[in-house]
Amino acid sequence: MRWDHLTLSDDSAQNALFGVGDVLTRTFDTPEFRGMTFYETRARSILNKVPASSRMPFEWTVNPYRGCSHACRYCFARRTHEYLDLDAGLDFDSKIVVKINAPELIRKELASPRWAGSRIAMGTNVDPYQRVEGRYRLMPGILEALRDARNPFSILTKGTLVLRDLETLREAAEVTDVTVNVSVGFVDETLWRQVEPGTPAPRARLGVCRTLTDAGIGCGVLMAPILPYLTDSPSQLAAAVRAIAAAGARSVSPIVLHLRPGAREWYLAWLQREHPELMPRYHELYGRGAYAPKAYQRSISARVAALTRHYGVGSAPPDKIRQRAST
Ligand code: SF4
Repeated sequence: MRWDHLTLSDDSAQNALFGVGDVLTRTFDTPEFRGMTFYETRARSILNKVPASSRMPFEWTVNPYRGCSHACRYCFARRTHEYLDLDAGLDFDSKIVVKINAPELIRKELASPRWAGSRIAMGTNVDPYQRVEGRYRLMPGILEALRDARNPFSILTKGTLVLRDLETLREAAEVTDVTVNVSVGFVDETLWRQVEPGTPAPRARLGVCRTLTDAGIGCGVLMAPILPYLTDSPSQLAAAVRAIAAAGARSVSPIVLHLRPGAREWYLAWLQREHPELMPRYHELYGRGAYAPKAYQRSISARVAALTRHYGVGSAPPDKIRQRAST
């Protein structure tokens, strides 16, 4: 079953759809949402338990959206769209499921006597601060519920929209443990437009880090992904870590590109079009699976660790970091 068959011409329709129950299908006639479709649904539950077999360092997640208009070519969540009978390529970027009752649902689930107050991770599947959050405004209600329940949580995002909720984040940080990380794998703007076409610019994301830090909410940077042979030269790594240090980040964690099914086809199709000369080298690195060889990963970690020390990420007051970063 294909969802596009179910969109009515008056821009909304009530339907029972595969996997997520009843949905209202909606389009918005503004430039930022042109060509996109939103499937509004009322989720049955919102706290999601991560399977024990997963390698993830968190147990519980909340995802108010499925699909992501940030449209990163390498996004590992792409394959999850196939469970909805949508495809992992353009559909993932442009057909977004919106769980409109997420704020009321999380408040209810946090109040349950069965809930033990575990840390909740957001932004681990798709970005909760993707563009359409500006319209649906689900995150303020979610953050208020977490704040009121004094429940620890973390957010990972590429969206500058997170700053809209700065005051609620600050209030939450006064009563519980709040962690925010922004994801910035590189600062090359040409590559950014090609590989992460729907995201705010890397320097705008680092601006988020600076604002959060200045507001007293420590912000780390997930330096992810590092793209082999595209963003891994000594000068590119140095430029990224220097900018991260200047943003006052309290930590930097490098992650080399993963190519799991879904992301793999979409990313390699782009690479074949734009950088065909790199295909043999990628086959060498990713021919046997989703991860680059351990030796390559170790060499990146070591180089980023050395740069982190050099620029003093997380170890000096912002002024000092700015000074060191400008050298
Ligand atoms: S911002 Fe994150 S979730 Fe969204 S497309 Fe990019 S990698 Fe995927």
